Amino acid sequence: MSKKYDYLIVGAGLYGSVFAHEATKKGKKCLVIDKRTHRGGNVYCENKNGINVHKYGAHIFHTNDKEIWDYLNQFAEFNNYINSPVSISKGKLYNLPFNMNTFNQLWGVTKPSEAKQIIDEQVAKYGVKKPQNLEEQALSLVGKDVYEALIKEYTEKQWGRKATELPAFIIKRLPLRFTFNNNYFRDKYQGIPVGGYNVIIEGLLKDIEVKLNVDFFEDREELEKLADKVVFTGKIDEYFDYQYGELEYRSLRFEHEELEMDNYQGNAVVNYNDLEYKFTRIIEHKHFEFGTQKNTIVTREYPEKWDRSKEAYYPVNDTKNSELYNQYKKLSETKGNVIFGGRLAEYKYYDMHQVVGASLARVKKELA
Ligand code: UDP
Repeated sequence: MSKKYDYLIVGAGLYGSVFAHEATKKGKKCLVIDKRTHRGGNVYCENKNGINVHKYGAHIFHTNDKEIWDYLNQFAEFNNYINSPVSISKGKLYNLPFNMNTFNQLWGVTKPSEAKQIIDEQVAKYGVKKPQNLEEQALSLVGKDVYEALIKEYTEKQWGRKATELPAFIIKRLPLRFTFNNNYFRDKYQGIPVGGYNVIIEGLLKDIEVKLNVDFFEDREELEKLADKVVFTGKIDEYFDYQYGELEYRSLRFEHEELEMDNYQGNAVVNYNDLEYKFTRIIEHKHFEFGTQKNTIVTREYPEKWDRSKEAYYPVNDTKNSELYNQYKKLSETKGNVIFGGRLAEYKYYDMHQVVGASLARVKKELA
């Protein structure tokens, strides 16, 4: 007997929504469920007094891949927002990513050759050939001053552990450049969807059955009976009932506040390096869309230890967790009728464009 749906898609975030959209286009019948009361997963925005509040932290879209860019542009137009965060360290403000403005602020230098010389000297003194952890990687890339002013404390707050106990790859996300260019990303395409991310999600899920407030784990057997295949975008260890043990995640707590002023910090993203601030950054949402509202809304982002009662925002891809994930991955490969995808199911520190790319590739393979 054939089942009611071809695919039960667990999670209405980007991965699940792209998959559902493409599968539906190919004539498949999909049911998307989500335990939250809204669609969109962590890209969901709540409109408050005309300001799109990124409820689950700042989401700035960027990609080098024209196909992915064009794909999303079918659903929304993107504005020309360029991410240029600043960081406050010991009461002083620095431009990010590390560039000539930052080096001028740190050392007073005005020429690339002067900045290079300082960094080269520090790298020679403190760097190592084969960095084994984030601290060694940072010292070998940017030297001691940048590391101490702008990386060490932020990183230790963010991950809740010493920089010497973190994988080196995390810091590779931070570019270093010798021009006066404050664009955080190197990608060709960047922006915020006009009207917020919900516009994209609405477009992707248009005419697709979506049930909110449905927790897969509370009614697993019944839900699984509904479809031939499951696309699972939640935590892979939870799917397998933590049978090999728990993967580690990092959680966040967001404190949103509306202020009676039109401009609180003059920038969408301000990082706070020092440990004395318990939050890592303050987001001022209106600046993502050049808002001119009378009031403003800011969000302080507090990193938190994860436990099963909390949201899992970041995978912790150190050796121990990566090995554990590989065990789950092997197990997942024995489940022919379940597709695991997205940041949590693949246990990968994916950006949005990578999630979209992964979902498009998977659904293409599936329906080839
Ligand atoms: N980071 C840092 N100082 C900063 C911003 C970031 O040292 O001011 C490091 C930190 O280890 C962080 C990583 O760079 O985990 C990636 O940060 P990013 O803001 O790019 O990632 P997100 O948290 O937005 O995924």
